[in-house]
Amino acid sequence: MMQPNLDLLIPAYVREFEPYIPSKPDAELKKLYRCDRLLRLNNNENPLGPPPGAQEVICKFSPPSGAVYPSGDSYYLRREIAAIHGIDPDQVLVGNGANEVITFVIKAFCEQGDNIITADKTFAVYEWVATFSGIEARVIPLVREGFDDRGMLRAIDHRTKILFVCNPNNPTGTYWSRKILTDFLDAVDGRQIVVIDEAYFEFVEAADYPDGIALIRQYPNVVVFRTFSKMYGLAALRIGYLAGNPDVVDMIRRTCVVYSVNAIAQEAARAALQDDTGHIRRTRELVAESKAFLCEELSKMGLPLIAGEGNYLIVRLPGSDTLAYRKLMREGVMIRPMTGFRYPDHIRVSLARLEAMEVFVGALKKILS
Ligand SMILES: *Cc1c(COP(=O)(O)O)cnc(C)c1O
Repeated sequence: MMQPNLDLLIPAYVREFEPYIPSKPDAELKKLYRCDRLLRLNNNENPLGPPPGAQEVICKFSPPSGAVYPSGDSYYLRREIAAIHGIDPDQVLVGNGANEVITFVIKAFCEQGDNIITADKTFAVYEWVATFSGIEARVIPLVREGFDDRGMLRAIDHRTKILFVCNPNNPTGTYWSRKILTDFLDAVDGRQIVVIDEAYFEFVEAADYPDGIALIRQYPNVVVFRTFSKMYGLAALRIGYLAGNPDVVDMIRRTCVVYSVNAIAQEAARAALQDDTGHIRRTRELVAESKAFLCEELSKMGLPLIAGEGNYLIVRLPGSDTLAYRKLMREGVMIRPMTGFRYPDHIRVSLARLEAMEVFVGALKKILS
């Protein structure tokens, strides 16, 4: 059989797209780097795991139910989310992680020739999904490590469909206050969709940090993302959601594939929302303690850092971040090199247990000496 002519079959924007290479499973990495334990500080996971109620749901899932399709629209979970935020369940769409809802929104609003606007140093998936879908991604440089509201507004043209704001920003931890966000929304004036990615919402304690979902009534062009992967410790189960105005969500719903959210994830997410054991408080305390420790240790080492909201911070190294990654891996510590985020010579470290932070600092001292 002849080889298919991929140059003819594949659109140029797919052919030319550099695929993201996921890291190998931990067991393979341990063999590769010859380390007997591996500390994962690369994905901003919650070291406490899911809240106890969600853990119980996972344990109690009845194996024969594995044969039964889940609710195709996460019926009960949407009701639960809507009740918490005082919105209608039809204003909520649940996806296979917040990553999947990014694709829903771009598919719903964008066609060839359109563009989206976001920052150059932020969560990269908005830019990636746009690019491999043949949609131009305009990436606006950060200002003082934060999203540049005016720069984003200036980049808007008649083909701009969506503005993506990561609040707080991954990886810099900066956030837009309520005032900056509402001034921005007033300036956009409903002409484009404004996505506010609140993946780290539950970590932020600042009083002027705005709740995007509460702004939907006043600004019907706002779409908010939340995830169960970070604070709620359910990253392995892949579940996140978006919330928006009923008409907007009704359109986005047309682009989602049913059954992408599995039954265990739906039930565990419901239990996570109902948690009353202080899971969020405990996680915030752990993050605060580890952040204070790291800030002090890194400043003693003379390493500049960028720290804000969220369970992560960025460290600037005297040399290559990708080389530091390989050296730290040999010490059994996995961090995120930031070259891919357009921050060469920087690494992002998740704020985990204090003991983990001590191991990280020890390994960093060793590889830099
Ligand atoms: C982790 C993360 C997500 C994606 O979360 P999933 O629900 O695991 O797909 C989205 N946005 C930001 C900013 C994140 O850091």
